[in-house]
Amino acid sequence: MWEHLRETDEKIHAAVTAELKRQRDTLELIASENFVSPAVMEAAATPPTNKYAEGYPGRRYYGGCEHVDELEELARERAGELFGSAHVNVQPHSGSGANMAVYFSVLAPGDTILGQDLNHGGHLTHGSPVNFSGILYEIEAYGVDPDTEMLDYDRIEEQARRVQPRMIMTGASAYPRVIDFDRFREIADAVDAYLVADIAHIAGMVAVGLHPSPVPHADFVTTTTHKTLRGPRGGMVLSRTEELGKGIDKMVFPGLQGGPLMHIIAAKAVCFLEALQPEFADYQKQILQNASALADGLQERGLRLVSGGTDNHLILLDLTDTGITGKEGEERLESVGITVNKNTIPFETRSPFVTSGVRIGTPALTSRGMGEEEMDRIAWAIHRTVTADADAESAFEQVRETVSDLCRAFPLYPELT
Ligand SMILES: *Cc1c(COP(=O)(O)O)cnc(C)c1O
Repeated sequence: MWEHLRETDEKIHAAVTAELKRQRDTLELIASENFVSPAVMEAAATPPTNKYAEGYPGRRYYGGCEHVDELEELARERAGELFGSAHVNVQPHSGSGANMAVYFSVLAPGDTILGQDLNHGGHLTHGSPVNFSGILYEIEAYGVDPDTEMLDYDRIEEQARRVQPRMIMTGASAYPRVIDFDRFREIADAVDAYLVADIAHIAGMVAVGLHPSPVPHADFVTTTTHKTLRGPRGGMVLSRTEELGKGIDKMVFPGLQGGPLMHIIAAKAVCFLEALQPEFADYQKQILQNASALADGLQERGLRLVSGGTDNHLILLDLTDTGITGKEGEERLESVGITVNKNTIPFETRSPFVTSGVRIGTPALTSRGMGEEEMDRIAWAIHRTVTADADAESAFEQVRETVSDLCRAFPLYPELT
């Protein structure tokens, strides 16, 4: 595989090949990751990578754009159809860049944003002090209720009335429950704030109607294309009106970016076409059934999940009672071939480098074809790994065998040889 690459650069060829092997031989449970289809992967490695196309279809600053115009048009049309949105910008290089374009298009530095606390499931770009959002804007953070560990919309409304934000940011990276965007619209209207829904994690479910859509309610919807949506790494902004969309277009280019990544936009278009097919709804449904089966399997074995379960593709496992930290949990699971990430839990007492939890998601293994039966075996494997004594080598060995059984039974990218 990749013969020219091997000839030119052995070291990079070796690293890329080893990464393919790692993806094949481990169980990928990082909630924000996925495996793209071979068609998406092919599109991402095509000649549009060579093309400068500053501007938008029909209004470029470079010649020779007729074909990339066509593919960007298709990407925009398909995304518009998929989400029912009036205006789409498919150029942001990342989800963070999409959020930046939204903030810069309607806020001034120093304006107040009300966003979900990072420790309670929010994202860095929703106001973390180490991120541009927390550096440039006044941030007020809302969290989950200490008892239910779910959003309490009445409390958020009270907070919004008190702090009078210019913008309310909704959406999360580690929140296992449904988000009520309709209720958030009421809150935003009550204080005359912009409402933004960042659906980076749940975009796939939103696209097929398995999570309520924010599109009718939010002024802007931002997303990544590489999580549940199963496309190439990248971002996108949907705007409620043409006028808001014009502001986004100007801010993405020339405001924040130069030339768009046309090969990635080609791959986004392929992803949207796939997402418009009936099988994609089945796929999203299976992601949810798998998350629910995995949550049941972990809870039946005595582990504690934040909020007591999941409504979506992810689970937040609180390891406090097992006596190991999130960092130790991540490392132990990695040593047996199960990839997750350590994650803070609501009301976290440890640092973000240590944490008390791990986040677990099912989109990637669902793409490999696994179902509920496999999820129960994985629940067994996770439980065994995090509850065993640190030196229980035979337990870890047993788990490794289960992991390699599962990986063999559900081959990844068999066409790449
Ligand atoms: C992943 C994520 C992002 C950022 O995406 P990048 O492409 O990594 O910049 C933004 N918002 C939320 C809620 C996310 O989960």
